Amino acid sequence: MDFYDRDSETQDRASLKRLQDHRLCDLLRELRANQFYREKFARAGIEMGDVRSGEDLKRLAFTTKAELVGEQQAYPPYGRLLTYPISRYRYFHQTSGTTGVPFKCLDTRDDWDAWMRAWGYVYRAAGVRESDLVFCAFSFGPYLSHWAAIDGARHIGALAISGGGLSSEQRLRTILDNRCTVLVCTPTYALHLAEVAQRFSLDLASSAIRITIHAGEPGASVDSVKRSIEQAWGATCFDHAGATEVGAWAFECQAQTGAIHLNELEFIFEVIDPHSGELPTDGRRGELVVTTLSRPGMPVLRYRTGDLVELLEDPCLCGRTSVRIKGGVLGRADDMLIVRGVNLYPSAIDNVIRGQKSIVEYEVEIRRIDGMDDLLIKTEIGNTKIFSDVKEALVSQFRSQLNIRVSVDFAEAGSLPRYEFKARRYKRIAE
Ligand SMILES: [Zn+2]
Repeated sequence: MDFYDRDSETQDRASLKRLQDHRLCDLLRELRANQFYREKFARAGIEMGDVRSGEDLKRLAFTTKAELVGEQQAYPPYGRLLTYPISRYRYFHQTSGTTGVPFKCLDTRDDWDAWMRAWGYVYRAAGVRESDLVFCAFSFGPYLSHWAAIDGARHIGALAISGGGLSSEQRLRTILDNRCTVLVCTPTYALHLAEVAQRFSLDLASSAIRITIHAGEPGASVDSVKRSIEQAWGATCFDHAGATEVGAWAFECQAQTGAIHLNELEFIFEVIDPHSGELPTDGRRGELVVTTLSRPGMPVLRYRTGDLVELLEDPCLCGRTSVRIKGGVLGRADDMLIVRGVNLYPSAIDNVIRGQKSIVEYEVEIRRIDGMDDLLIKTEIGNTKIFSDVKEALVSQFRSQLNIRVSVDFAEAGSLPRYEFKARRYKRIAE
């Protein structure tokens, strides 16, 4: 088993909690200079200096994406979110704005070091070493994760190669020519590259890629997707999770347990019921809330990620003591469906659809009819002659596995959007 920091990662839970509380106090001392959080604490009637633990912090209201974006609109360009004078900041990024207005994110040199550590855990846990050649198949726009992934690879001593500004074919040829050993991209894009490779008769399974690392959407922890990626690339596939406002907050270890580790050395985590904001009834399944312990330049405290997760507290075979999340990110709270009063996670739907190997791409339309969510699945398939078989199989599997009725439509080859980053396959249609 490979570790980024074995001693810290395997320490007992009590000392881990002490470390988190200690680091939280350090962070709050810095935040006295942060106007946004000073006011947030004042509104909650709490003195920053009185907060001694993650438990104490629960008196503070959640921070939301809408709140952060609104702050930047009210006080352009960065809101009152910066703890330090602008001269301390070195890194500018912004979110893709897939859910609205882009959010601008600045990092100091120290904040960026925290990003590098977070990526260090991701890479080391997957077994990436100094001798590896890491190919990052991203567009390298203003998006933070692209730059953090490539800098993170350098941070652990690997050779990092940017796939920015290249077509899929050029990316494939670069991977093969340079004998790259690690591929970092979204799960969807790893499968798309495999599709392109087939078109150009390039044999990926015989490439030097031994590890693939994915995030940006649920997928790499979805069994059927993971298997497809591993088969196509002849590699071991690893999931991880992160967000621009937060950091790379979870990673998968080599024990490959179907659950990924929360990085509790750099973040404090909570889980809430996305509707009520309270602790979920089972205490385990709900929306993930994160506090960044080591990004004082522009931190988030009790930030609602919108990601749905299920906590798993059993010890992991790898020896790490951090809590894991079962099946990775299960979907977005916004995409969570309610079918006959039961919460249904997008990853469960993905798993059924991806079970049909001939489906190349798909999109799910959700309509609310008589208070119930109704699903229309548009599918693009390689061989159009078998559409009626695929349709029949999907309808029957949704009925038997998830107990729901779905409609299935045919989409022309190449008509559905392809996603290099953050797939948005779920579309809610207004009533
Ligand atoms: Zn583990």
